[in-house]
Amino acid sequence: MTKFRRQPDIYIHREVITYSREKRPMEMITFTKDTKRKEEREALIDGLFPEANGDPESRPHIFDKKTIFLSCRVHPGETPASYVLDGIMKFLLKQTEQAKTLLEKFVFKVVPQLNPDGVYRGYWRLDTMAQNLNRFYTNPHPEHQPTIFGVKKVIVQQYQYKKLDVYVDLHAHASKRGCFMFGNNLKGEDMLKNMLLPRLVSLNSLNFDWMECAFSEGMMKVKDKKDGLTREGCGRVSIMQACGGLPNCYTLECNYASGRCINHISQKLNAETGQVEPEIAITDAKNRYYTEYNGKENKRNAPPYTIEVFEDVGRAFCIGLLDFYECNPVTRLTMSVYKNLEGVKTTYWPRTRFLYQKRRSPSHKPLRSKARLVEAEIIGFLSVARTVQFTSRYNKWVAPTFRSNV
Ligand SMILES: [Zn+2]
Repeated sequence: MTKFRRQPDIYIHREVITYSREKRPMEMITFTKDTKRKEEREALIDGLFPEANGDPESRPHIFDKKTIFLSCRVHPGETPASYVLDGIMKFLLKQTEQAKTLLEKFVFKVVPQLNPDGVYRGYWRLDTMAQNLNRFYTNPHPEHQPTIFGVKKVIVQQYQYKKLDVYVDLHAHASKRGCFMFGNNLKGEDMLKNMLLPRLVSLNSLNFDWMECAFSEGMMKVKDKKDGLTREGCGRVSIMQACGGLPNCYTLECNYASGRCINHISQKLNAETGQVEPEIAITDAKNRYYTEYNGKENKRNAPPYTIEVFEDVGRAFCIGLLDFYECNPVTRLTMSVYKNLEGVKTTYWPRTRFLYQKRRSPSHKPLRSKARLVEAEIIGFLSVARTVQFTSRYNKWVAPTFRSNV
């Protein structure tokens, strides 16, 4: 926050959306480059913004830009989520061309703690009333789940202003390995748009695992064993439904400990200078961090996760956004097999339709990136291979997921 304030061209606004059951504030920070600002401000919402005292001037200005909405710690013990958010904030604070482009193009709205009581009390997944708040987004009660009630109203307001473009709720995962996203199961072009962003994030991070991303209908409806509450009440499903089927609604998850493999990522090409940019330690697969753990350079095992890995996932999310909106001044796509965004789309669209619409594969998952050169004509063969692979993986990793989760 302080660093943002030191940048004169950054607009920053901090406000309390509401208080938790134990009267702890749930804050929201709005920031963007101070351009395309309108005189008009966002409206007050009944029952929210207790510190505004009814003053409409206390709300942030409206900008002629789309909104990226990020939230964290609905499950209070999921600290990797906060490190991912730190990575996003640090990326945006740096005065790089990439950060400037994002801030010029978008308004970021961040709610760092959705469950401040749980964080204060050191809980893992619940609030003071033993509620898993990520199951109450469909119809949150202003007194029983005040923070969820508040955050949903604020998100829907952005949708009503026709501003909301991307919603991501950040989490951590105790059983399913890797860093990945859960998305909704949508139809047609929306599904491609939905899958494209996580795919682009994986092309920008060694540790974000595209194979672990899931977009199945089943994942939207699965019931928790303990309380029978369904995931239809979680953030990404409810926000998508409340915001007219918004395609880019996600839960971003990072395992606490490690992943299954690391990605192959292409070099970064600076469009202006035509030069390849050097990697930083965490994005360099030949770095000691990876090679010492793997023993040999050509092995691709994931290292034990550290704060740097989580922050890098946040950074990769930002770069993925730049690629998604085709405004990345230093992109990896040019040096990749895809060459550009269209290349990624044409590679994945036939599979997307195959996997999610024409026929239900057992895993409802995208293909492993290692097989990316094998195209639609031999997809039949791949589906058999994947079924075998899926069965062993299901027993090992996916099955335990249904016992805990999201
Ligand atoms: Zn969680």
